[in-house]
Amino acid sequence: PLSEIIEKAALQRLFKLVERSRQILITTHLSPDGDALGASLALYHYLKLQQKDVRLMVPNSFPYFLKWMKGSDDILIHEYNPKAAQVIFDHADLIFCLDYNIPKRVGGMAPLLEKSSAHKILVDHHLFPGDIFDVVISHPAISSTSELIFRLLYQAGRYEGIDRTVAECIYCGMMTDTGGFTFNSNNPEIYLIISLLLRKGVDKDRIYSLVYNNLTEDRFRLLGFTLSQRMKVYPELHTALIWLSLEDQKQFRYNKGDTEGFVNYPLSIKDIIFSVFIREEEEMVKLSFRSQGSFPTNEFAAQFFQGGGHLNASGGEFFGSLSDALARFEEGVAHYADKLRSISR
Ligand code: 5GP
Ligand code: MN
Repeated sequence: PLSEIIEKAALQRLFKLVERSRQILITTHLSPDGDALGASLALYHYLKLQQKDVRLMVPNSFPYFLKWMKGSDDILIHEYNPKAAQVIFDHADLIFCLDYNIPKRVGGMAPLLEKSSAHKILVDHHLFPGDIFDVVISHPAISSTSELIFRLLYQAGRYEGIDRTVAECIYCGMMTDTGGFTFNSNNPEIYLIISLLLRKGVDKDRIYSLVYNNLTEDRFRLLGFTLSQRMKVYPELHTALIWLSLEDQKQFRYNKGDTEGFVNYPLSIKDIIFSVFIREEEEMVKLSFRSQGSFPTNEFAAQFFQGGGHLNASGGEFFGSLSDALARFEEGVAHYADKLRSISR
């Protein structure tokens, strides 16, 4: 009783291309998150079970709390090995593009993707898919790309072919893109799918712990420091800001991914519906936005920080100093003040 949301012609075309392909390459976006890796590894394992020759490539490294997923050691990281990456692109005759909408989102891999003559299949849940794909399966109303991977296998009558490993990766992606099923997760069919995954032997409690109860001491102390020393609350605007300078990060021996999920914490404050995390990097300032309810963080991100994403979870970039980024943010909240003031949960 799962709705068949995927267009039949696209689904048929997808499996026909898979059947005809000799070397498949799966790609996903910069700074891969749980959904990007979950969807990619799920498809990777599924295609391997079908005896396909398949590789998985990501633009740059991913956080340590995702490395428990089977197959994560097989992933080629473009940034670390561009020569090997070039060879793989040269040989691929079918490329899956998962959890991103346009080539720009794969950073340094974008030119390889754009030049490749391989067929390209997009499976994604961001708005505005680009025009370089042969098959487009784009569903912005679905909360994760991992859920889409499940749906396309299920709808094609391939549920039997899903093993525990595939199911674990799908579950991880569905869980992380909904903050452990705390936002974007009111579609009843999500829980139908979870039930079908549990039947494959997924241990959902273990997966939750592996992802969320896996902080290093440094990371836990950095969270405490951020919330106590680097937070500003705008009560009338139902908004909270946290930020970290490079210096702050150095003090806590920051590693990639250490601040993943920090942006969600200020939403625990009563009446806060818009949370922003501003983090200084070597070459830019990175911003993460989260909201509860109807406040469109993606519009905010696009208007003030050349970014985008989903209504309740988006991001952007600022090229300039941290203090200028903070000032730009205040300009943004001033612009949205009326809207923010009038919003409640
Ligand atoms: P996060 O805050 O977890 O880094 O990103 C949340 C979501 O915002 C991502 O899934 C992605 O859709 C979007 N996003 C993050 N950074 C950017 C960005 O710089 N540009 C665009 N267009 N989207 C972003
Ligand atoms: Mn996603």
